[in-house]
Amino acid sequence: MRYSQLLLPTLKETPADAEVVSHQLLLRAGFIRKITSGVYSYLPLGLAAIRNVERIVREEMNNAGAQEVLLPMVQPADLWQESGRWEKYGPELLRFKDRHGRESCLGPTHEEVITDLIRREVHSYRGLPLNLYQIQTKFRDEIRPRFGLMRGREFIMKDGYSFDADEEGANKAYETMHYAYHRVFQRCGLKFRAVEADTGSIGGNFSHEFMVLADTGEDTLVICKKCTYAANMEKATAMPPAAPATQAAPLPLEKKETPGKRKVEAVTEFLGITPKELVKTMVYLADGKPVAVLVRGDHEVQPVKLKNLLGAIEVEMADDKQVFDATGVPTGYLGPIGLKIRVVADREVALMKNFVVGGNEKNFHLLNVNLGRDFEVESVADLRMVTEEDRCPVCGAELNLTRGIEVGHIFKLGKNYSEALNAVFLDNQGQEQHFVMGCYGIGVSRTVAAAIEQNHDKDGIIFPLPIAPFQVIILNLSPNDEAITAAAEQLYNDFRGQGIDVLLDDRDERPGSKFKDADLIGIPFRLMVGKSFAKDGVVEIRRRATGETSALPLAEVVPALAAQIRTELTAAV
Ligand code: ATP
Ligand code: MG
Repeated sequence: MRYSQLLLPTLKETPADAEVVSHQLLLRAGFIRKITSGVYSYLPLGLAAIRNVERIVREEMNNAGAQEVLLPMVQPADLWQESGRWEKYGPELLRFKDRHGRESCLGPTHEEVITDLIRREVHSYRGLPLNLYQIQTKFRDEIRPRFGLMRGREFIMKDGYSFDADEEGANKAYETMHYAYHRVFQRCGLKFRAVEADTGSIGGNFSHEFMVLADTGEDTLVICKKCTYAANMEKATAMPPAAPATQAAPLPLEKKETPGKRKVEAVTEFLGITPKELVKTMVYLADGKPVAVLVRGDHEVQPVKLKNLLGAIEVEMADDKQVFDATGVPTGYLGPIGLKIRVVADREVALMKNFVVGGNEKNFHLLNVNLGRDFEVESVADLRMVTEEDRCPVCGAELNLTRGIEVGHIFKLGKNYSEALNAVFLDNQGQEQHFVMGCYGIGVSRTVAAAIEQNHDKDGIIFPLPIAPFQVIILNLSPNDEAITAAAEQLYNDFRGQGIDVLLDDRDERPGSKFKDADLIGIPFRLMVGKSFAKDGVVEIRRRATGETSALPLAEVVPALAAQIRTELTAAV
């Protein structure tokens, strides 16, 4: 492609409404433009990067035995009513009526549609296993669309679904996808980790998220410094707490005035104790009903763990008014003694003695409180977020908390959807069975954003070679010089002959602005045809990622670089 003919509207200034670096750079580098909240147009370079991710995804899915389909984006409400998700999905599902008044929605995901297809088309175990995938635009009316391609309302996803006759087959399909996902992100040239994720009601170790490692990531990953244990924060557990060797004798309960001290730090400072000696009482609404959760003063509740314990569909923290309505106590002074709502405790709390809690009265706390003697709880479980003080639940080594961006998610669905939609086949005994399913997603457009979050510097994007919109950019630094222009053109044609994606900057611009734009759009290899060529017949080659520069005689450039690119692309597999 010639730069002079390309729609590549780069910007000098960072757009004010872009908070994260990938969003800023995608706009500045002319890759995307916003139409409305969470909805973007992909310009030629943005689309080229997306297509590269898609190509890798397709190759790996096909290699793993999956077949590509394309399912409708508009879906009828009846299917969602059958699965029960028409009610459950909430406002993220964009619903509308067609001209006949039929309720419909835009597909945020396709479990219903694919299960419907398979229940109609596959009737025997002989048609199994099956693994189908598509790459398609999804729509989710996200509550907070933000960060450009990271969390759009309209975005491109690869979603795949496996159908098996039994658990064993489904587990095998899961492992195959796990491996294929590793290859996908490795081939994209990204630093990533697969982490265990929450399986909700399915249970078992059958949900993994693939996380691109980046300090700016929204998710926290818990990674063992020694063994292979890695989980996301929702799922991560710590080594269970050990009971203290000597049990402190319970002391008499004491009521203490703590005027205006509501926050953990304020209370503990006032009492001259550490947060580890205090128990916080946090109120959550589980499907609208209040539940008090007790955690140590220095710990935080993990809502997904709470949700699983309670078997709730949705859990959210209560605000001050909701807390007061449920308990009659202002926030900051809440405690478990005499509380009229359900109370559950983190397992750490069960081992504490003589701790401090709120007095259920404004400006009062209680000292020397003991579980069992002073109050009871409905259940004790692991309900908190892991911290860096914790130890690995598998090997006991130290844990690392690091940030990541979820780019893929694989999940064993079991028979959830096949039972809801009554999707059955006849097994080899002639018995009706429900399909055992799995689902597998990759955020294709988010992967491009995540690649930029992970790989950039102050000058712009540093694309990993496999997903760069162009692998090579040639800068013609004197478009008015015949010899230089002829050399640049020759390089351009020879690279194209080699099947290399190459961009020729043939614009009538000053070298400085060509350098700037090349850095901004992040093309891995920059070739400069200018003074050195006129003087010594050499072309300078600069690697975007490292800044390393070398020079080669014109005739050697294409063979050497084409070979290097091929080697690097195959080495990534
Ligand atoms: P998140 O927790 O980030 O909302 P999710 O759990 O809703 O993600 P899935 O339903 O598992 O996501 O979708 C599969 C993949 O699609 C995700 O791993 C992610 O990479 C991508 N994805 C999900 N929502 C968005 C979005 N709003 N914008 C861009 N990509 C998305
Ligand atoms: Mg989501």
